Amino acid sequence: RRLGRTGPKAPARPGALGVLGVAGQINLDYAATAPCAQVAADAVAELLPWYASVHRGAGALSQRCTLAYERARQTVGDFLGARPDDHVVFTRNTTDALNLLARVLPTGTRVVTFDGEHHANLLPWPIGTVRLPVPASPGSAVRALDAALRELRRGTDGTAPILVAVTGASNVTGECWPVTELSLIARRHGARIAVDAAQLAPHVPVSVSDLEVDYLAISGHKLYAPFGTGALVGRADWLDAAPPYLAGGGATAYVGAATHDVRWNTGPGRHEAGTPNLLGAVALGAVCAALDTADRAALCASEQALLSRLRSGLTALPGVVELSTFAPDSPRVGIVSFVVAGRDSAEVAAVLANEHGIGVRDGLFCAHPLARRLLAEASARSGRADLPATALRASIGLGSTAEEIDRLLDALPTVG
Ligand code: PMP
Repeated sequence: RRLGRTGPKAPARPGALGVLGVAGQINLDYAATAPCAQVAADAVAELLPWYASVHRGAGALSQRCTLAYERARQTVGDFLGARPDDHVVFTRNTTDALNLLARVLPTGTRVVTFDGEHHANLLPWPIGTVRLPVPASPGSAVRALDAALRELRRGTDGTAPILVAVTGASNVTGECWPVTELSLIARRHGARIAVDAAQLAPHVPVSVSDLEVDYLAISGHKLYAPFGTGALVGRADWLDAAPPYLAGGGATAYVGAATHDVRWNTGPGRHEAGTPNLLGAVALGAVCAALDTADRAALCASEQALLSRLRSGLTALPGVVELSTFAPDSPRVGIVSFVVAGRDSAEVAAVLANEHGIGVRDGLFCAHPLARRLLAEASARSGRADLPATALRASIGLGSTAEEIDRLLDALPTVG
């Protein structure tokens, strides 16, 4: 039943979650899009014969689809530690989730973020957003936020809502941000905090309630589910008070004859107008359920072992310089960005792909301010004038193996 050479990769360890792959292709680009988990593919295959409308039909097929969609919502909420009164809104991805949050901010909300964010967490926010410089350490991030919030409170009459928008783990460096400490500071100043968990949730357990944050945003396609599904999880009040993100069927409780005679639903459906992506939601739910019952500590430990192998291997290669914001031993997920002195990153990536079957990413990773700054710092730190203007990124996760990492480390010195 498999197409050509595609199919499940053997799980890295017994009990680990299997992911799909293609023989001969080494995927070291999980941070862009992770491979699809077998459980996600199975959940989709099981539901396909039942394909029918969600929330829009009375037939048995439709009932099952509606149930499956709402169960998926529950599972994703459980996976992300949703509080009983939180909403779990299905979105297309993290970008969509953060844009949704930006659209439901009460009038006058001030947003504070950092220059180190992915564009998805830099660009949706309103004019007047405070962008703090990339901090040199987790501690300086906390201090900078504290000072900025104090200043903001002084500058406003103290009543304007404030939202802090930060990443959980950087898509450039893999470094984990001090979310719990930032959340504490936000609460101390009466601000809310949203965490872009696109890169954190695939690697470590993330809970909106344990982290004591207000919102979490995730992408299904970075979490071993197919494209097209993400979620915004968090406080219901702003979501229920704002006009719907999309206006249309499913978001309405009552529509009258006059153009603006509309009563919108409350609840997640308010922002999910239009027929939803059932298969995506169910696939994401299946991965969340599987991860919830997996031994996450063991998965994290094996990923960290691979990450150490990758980073120490890269450090040992002449001319390779890693990009990082924090200290080398700062906690991080399975993502490493680096440059090869004297080599154009796009060319290196192309040779890795075409001659070695290794997929990495090159560029500025949709985090231009951060990537540019790290490249400039790497140049200053290494004392080399021949570093390229863009970087390479290798990223790993479920199903990654030591052999794949060694193949990259063996290939790199031959590229050029
Ligand atoms: N935030 C971070 C930290 C990311 O890495 C990404 C994807 N690279 C996004 C947001 C946006 O995710 P998506 O493209 O799935 O919307």
